Amino acid sequence: MVKPLIRDYGSPGRKGYSLPELDIPAGELSDYLDQSLIREKPAGLPEVSEVDVVRHFTGLSQMNYGVDSGIYPLGSCTMKYNPKINEDIARLEKLSQLHPYQEEEQVQGSLELLYELKEYLAEISGMDQVSLQPASGSHGELTGLMIIKKYFAERGEQRTKVIVPDSAHGTNPASAAMAGFQVVEIESNQKGMIDLAALRAAVDQEVAALMLTNPNTLGIFEKDILEIAEIVHQAGGLLYYDGANMNAIMGYVRPGDMNFDVLHFNLHKTFSTPHGGGGPGAGPVGVKEFLSPYLPVPVLSKDQARYYWDYNRPLSLGKVHAFYGNYGVMLKAYAYIRALGASGLKEATEHAVLNANYMKARLKDQFELPYQENSLHEFVLSGIRQKEKGVSTLNIAKRLLDYQQYAPTIYFPLVVKEALMIEPTETENIKTLDKFVETMKNISREIEEKPQLVKNAPHHTPVRKLDDVAAARNPDLRW
Ligand SMILES: *Cc1c(COP(=O)(O)O)cnc(C)c1O
Repeated sequence: MVKPLIRDYGSPGRKGYSLPELDIPAGELSDYLDQSLIREKPAGLPEVSEVDVVRHFTGLSQMNYGVDSGIYPLGSCTMKYNPKINEDIARLEKLSQLHPYQEEEQVQGSLELLYELKEYLAEISGMDQVSLQPASGSHGELTGLMIIKKYFAERGEQRTKVIVPDSAHGTNPASAAMAGFQVVEIESNQKGMIDLAALRAAVDQEVAALMLTNPNTLGIFEKDILEIAEIVHQAGGLLYYDGANMNAIMGYVRPGDMNFDVLHFNLHKTFSTPHGGGGPGAGPVGVKEFLSPYLPVPVLSKDQARYYWDYNRPLSLGKVHAFYGNYGVMLKAYAYIRALGASGLKEATEHAVLNANYMKARLKDQFELPYQENSLHEFVLSGIRQKEKGVSTLNIAKRLLDYQQYAPTIYFPLVVKEALMIEPTETENIKTLDKFVETMKNISREIEEKPQLVKNAPHHTPVRKLDDVAAARNPDLRW
């Protein structure tokens, strides 16, 4: 189905506005402008009525799918519904119209708010100090690794390696490489967890850090975390926590108490800013006290009752973001945390975990469940049985679109063949979860009965199967 362009609705002289009559003398353009600036031919703009414009763009918006349309169970991505009231708060004129060059004295209220946000994040994560500046999760990772690098440089230690498990999010090894470390990958064990023997073998005097997500990307909690921390710390290395998905643990365990030294948050996953769509995010970094001298400048500080930006930090790694970071995203996180409170955040975690486990229990007979361990806010199935019938996980994902359901994350984590990684999030109700489960079961039946139907999906989307690789490598942005 190809939508007509806006110009295809047009007709010469049709207008979408009415202006008052001209009350100055009408003249030729050449009375006002130099001849060289005047077009020889009209620009060819569409001439359309207001209703044409509104219907056209509303129609285009409905070709898209988002969290406002339905469930978006992309594992590891936390695509959830966020309260719109937090958007309103971030747009309050007194907050949104501030300028970063304003004097500190004029923005004490805003600084107080940011300071409190830092304290909340420190409390939630069990860290001592937080910088709100990084703009994304991966930017937080890079900042955290630069802190680690600076720490060892100051101590005069040559540590060049970062250990990353094979189930890690792709940004982990990428950030380690960007920070100038050599990435050492270790294999997970049969339970999908860190293999302690493999870790012991990999840890030496050259290891700066181990990067870990807990629960890991299979949704499984690393029960041996204290022993893991001990192994790394014994060898003089540090522990980095990838805290992109705090809705798995908030109010239950804290990375700081698991003996991690550095972490990042994704405010645009757990803390209210919608994830996806390319809008601004924020990836604050938290550290234990001994690493706080290396945080990026400026550090938001407090002297009696006055808040100020501290630039006098000789050991700081420098700046990582213009001004103070993405303030609007921080406002939404602040509003979210204040609105839910400690018990509400804990409840969000409970719902995220309950929803994921409910779906896992309902789907594990139709689809292979490669790791049997208890999981938290997400779980990973394998489409291996369906693949034997000639239908791939990609085909299943495309078929879901025909049922107006969004597909889970597929082919990640890499340790699972034909992976389907499902994260329903805390914001979906049981009816929505059931509908998704029934759709998956339907597709599974279709694969038995008429596999070709699923192989050729999608059938009902505005565009059929796209060549995503070609689209990324050779984008053709013209009509
Ligand atoms: C989303 C995510 C990241 C990266 O965050 P971005 O803001 O997309 O850069 C890192 N690790 C995990 C586990 C994630 O889910």
